[in-house]
Amino acid sequence: MKTQEHLQQMTLIAGPCSAESEEQVLATAISIAKINPAAIFRAGIWKPRTRPNAFEGIGSAGLPWLCKVKEITGMQTATEVANARHVEECLRHNIDILWIGARTTVNPFSVQEIAQALKGTNVRVMVKNPVNAELSLWMGAIERLDLQGVKHITAIHRGFHKPEKQAFRNDPRWELAIEMRILAPNIPMLCDPSHICGNKELIPYVAQKALDLGMDGLMIETHINPLRALSDADQQLTPSELASVLDNLRVRLPEMDKTDGKGELQKLRTSINRTDEELLQLIFRRMQYSREIGEYKKKHNLSILQVNRWEELLRDRIGLAQGMGLSKSFVKRIYNLIHEESIRKQSEVMAN
Ligand code: PEP
Ligand code: MN
Repeated sequence: MKTQEHLQQMTLIAGPCSAESEEQVLATAISIAKINPAAIFRAGIWKPRTRPNAFEGIGSAGLPWLCKVKEITGMQTATEVANARHVEECLRHNIDILWIGARTTVNPFSVQEIAQALKGTNVRVMVKNPVNAELSLWMGAIERLDLQGVKHITAIHRGFHKPEKQAFRNDPRWELAIEMRILAPNIPMLCDPSHICGNKELIPYVAQKALDLGMDGLMIETHINPLRALSDADQQLTPSELASVLDNLRVRLPEMDKTDGKGELQKLRTSINRTDEELLQLIFRRMQYSREIGEYKKKHNLSILQVNRWEELLRDRIGLAQGMGLSKSFVKRIYNLIHEESIRKQSEVMAN
């Protein structure tokens, strides 16, 4: 089965959490190549396990298996690196893409060591978000690679650790992924639904959400026999499950040229721009009144904060807004901000 044509346009990385045996690697790769020959094949060679004595990856012995995958299927290959030695071994085996795992992105020493080992190479590097929700670490890792001249850098959103038990293994915190895209607009971003979900069931939902947000592709753990996987067994799909997830995905168009023939979206955007301008002018005018009130209060020696007036005003505005169908909590937040700024303006007047 081949995936729909539009899905071929997004980056798809698929393959097992860990390379376990040559047979498992080749059988998984051949099945994935049949689904999407343009897919990139992933397999973890060195595995960062939380506790010792778990399967810590096959190690360098697995690298020739990835070479075979490329020979047989033509797919590019990708694996995780956590130190300079991993980088050197991968380069020696012509691995196409190296990714820095979530447990490594948190450590600037390791990232720096990896970045230096990559200096002068042309290999593509992907950086998973750090385990903890700290964007500067994610950004810092990208900057360290950039400073060493790494040209092809991609970010991977794999969710963030959260101590409480919840539906997801790692909290997606979509707003952080969006913030990262704004901070680094030239860095493509893929989503890794497998590590966000921790189970198979939620993968279609998370994968679709990532595409709806305009992410550039997906990394999905796929194993020829997930029940016997030596790591992350619960979240790995079989190749045929992968095909069905892909078949049900809808890739959203990145730009509007093709869809917006009659200029409808453009018109709506123009209206939004005009309304925002009016909104800012109104806020400006309101702040001018606050300033005038501040002057009046100063002249008559009145205190700035008049609690009764503020409570009455807030009640009135919330009632008005609810009548228009706006949510109470939204309007309350806006008015708290307006009030805060108004007090600040009046304090300025008092101080002068
Ligand atoms: C992995 O991709 O198998 C992995 C260990 O991921 P992460 O670094 O996101 O936990
Ligand atoms: Mn994994």
